[in-house]
Amino acid sequence: MVTALLTHDAALHHVTPEGHPERVARIEHLLHALAAFPLMRVPAPLAEDSDIERCHPPSYIGSLESHLPSRGLHQVDGDTWLSPGSLDAARRAAGGIVKAIDMVLDGEVANAFVAMRPPGHHAERTTAMGFCLFGTAAIGAKYALETRGLSRVAVVDFDVHHGNGTQDLLWHERRALTITSHQSPLWPGTGASHETGAHDNVLNLPLPPGSDGSRMREVYEDRVFPRLREFAPDLIILSAGFDAHADDPLANLNWQTEDFRWLTERLCALASEVCGGRVVSTLEGGYDLQALSEAGAAHVRALMEAGE
Ligand SMILES: [Zn+2]
Repeated sequence: MVTALLTHDAALHHVTPEGHPERVARIEHLLHALAAFPLMRVPAPLAEDSDIERCHPPSYIGSLESHLPSRGLHQVDGDTWLSPGSLDAARRAAGGIVKAIDMVLDGEVANAFVAMRPPGHHAERTTAMGFCLFGTAAIGAKYALETRGLSRVAVVDFDVHHGNGTQDLLWHERRALTITSHQSPLWPGTGASHETGAHDNVLNLPLPPGSDGSRMREVYEDRVFPRLREFAPDLIILSAGFDAHADDPLANLNWQTEDFRWLTERLCALASEVCGGRVVSTLEGGYDLQALSEAGAAHVRALMEAGE
């Protein structure tokens, strides 16, 4: 079966200031790298408010709407910006993961990758931060649990930054296991190993600056794969950031493209064991355009090969 690629031109209309690392060119370069791949290309639809509201209250959505500029930019925090197209883009990132989950659960595709921006994993319940507006991965997890009747969903976040937003949004959700590996110390400073969720449902795996793919492989072999097997999710959602790559300018891990391929292959193999291979991946970070394109392409190729 085929792999779905969900994206939308709206991702190009979320604009950040000149010199900002989370920029339009990220999507352009990544999609260019995927251009020849035989994927099922599906437009990312707008999320329903009800899907977003499983993670963010209407007052938060309303506050973002009220600050949305009709032209120019509005600064939400030190790193996070709104342009006229930003909410449409964030809503389609959330809608993209919902649609991807439906397609995978309905057996239309083997697995799926959502290539949208802004990213989502730093957005907390009532706080936009770290380039993120809506918690895309958590919105997907809640949708799968509440609407599709799944019993357990795992989120695996391999972005180099801690997925503080996903952790916040799923902290009390005993049906979700949130696993995040990340460089520590590094912004946002959360994600210590003693942060384990309200129901021992969060697993944080800090990695030291300068560590490479072999350290990552050890940690995933020793800690992540056994825990996923034990939890036996019905679906695995990946928060796919590519900023742990050695060439990334925002962090100091030394993963290579081959490490992202290995990680994706192993996660897909585990998904085959426990949940019929059902994997939905959503783009988070990755700020060196070449590294993002290569590692992103390796990730999607591994998804495709797993679905064959
Ligand atoms: Zn990141």
